[in-house]
Amino acid sequence: MALTKIQTTTGTATPAELGRTLVHEHVLVGFPGWELDAHAPKFLRAEAMARAVDQMHELRGHGVDTFVDPCPMDLGRDAEFLAELSQRSGMRIVCTTGAYYEADGLTQTFRYMPLEEVTALYVKEIEDGIGETGIKAGAIKIATGEPTVSDYERKLVTAAAQAAKITGVPLISHTQNGCCGHDQIDIVTGEGVPPGQLLVGHSDGVDDHEYHRSLAERGAFVGFDRFGISLFQPDEVRITNIMKLAAAGHLERVLISHDSIVCWLGRPRPYAESFDAMLEMLPDWRSTHIFRKIVPAFRERGMSDRDIDTILIDNPRRLFSAGLAA
Ligand SMILES: [Zn+2]
Repeated sequence: MALTKIQTTTGTATPAELGRTLVHEHVLVGFPGWELDAHAPKFLRAEAMARAVDQMHELRGHGVDTFVDPCPMDLGRDAEFLAELSQRSGMRIVCTTGAYYEADGLTQTFRYMPLEEVTALYVKEIEDGIGETGIKAGAIKIATGEPTVSDYERKLVTAAAQAAKITGVPLISHTQNGCCGHDQIDIVTGEGVPPGQLLVGHSDGVDDHEYHRSLAERGAFVGFDRFGISLFQPDEVRITNIMKLAAAGHLERVLISHDSIVCWLGRPRPYAESFDAMLEMLPDWRSTHIFRKIVPAFRERGMSDRDIDTILIDNPRRLFSAGLAA
């Protein structure tokens, strides 16, 4: 039976309560085995919490009501940390169930888990809560690599689609360099999930309007969710591609975010030797960047306040209510 409300780390919310939403940001992220790296800076929970509370307050100041952290289970997901952060900061936070793509995930556990068990695990984390915490996932992370979807990934995405069909929560994806978005839509819709319940993440990894438009035409949300990561794409290219989608009549399929991280667990190899070095290399890779620089840039290109609300308020609400029971 599909849910009737959106699930957050501290309770439920109605679609109308979601408000201004960042759909793809992170608090804690670490690659599998991060805790074994004795050369990395130690994870200091209290310091990380203080830093995260400050960032949430800053985002509240920019009118952000909801922060979605689609951290997969195998990348250091910590639902209790997120719930405590939500309570301390007043930010509504949504966490996810789901697993990362084969090359960079925790593959031993998931490789030998039959499809039905993966589906049941995801449903359990949504309906009953994560582990013994009682904190319920409000979305499912899916992820694929390149150049094709591996058997491992196909199994996990299929399980996620089945769990999304049962529970009604949205699917938030990771793609590599804009690859395989259509395969994700194929698998998800093949399990009977409407495309509007899927956000094809990191679609801004490619400067390819035809690709973006084809995803939107099929009814999926197109994620321009790495604003500020100039390493992958200049923001100017992201903005231009969003304006092209808007001109083609697809503004209602656009979602934006930063894929920012408050605290990196371990070291962010291969991108940098330390998280501080990475932040130094990417000065705009901050969760407030969209409000400081990108919204003004949209306005300069002729977007109205209504258009900006469509992207930051209406579209997240559409994604999160697509599968809810009436
Ligand atoms: Zn991410």
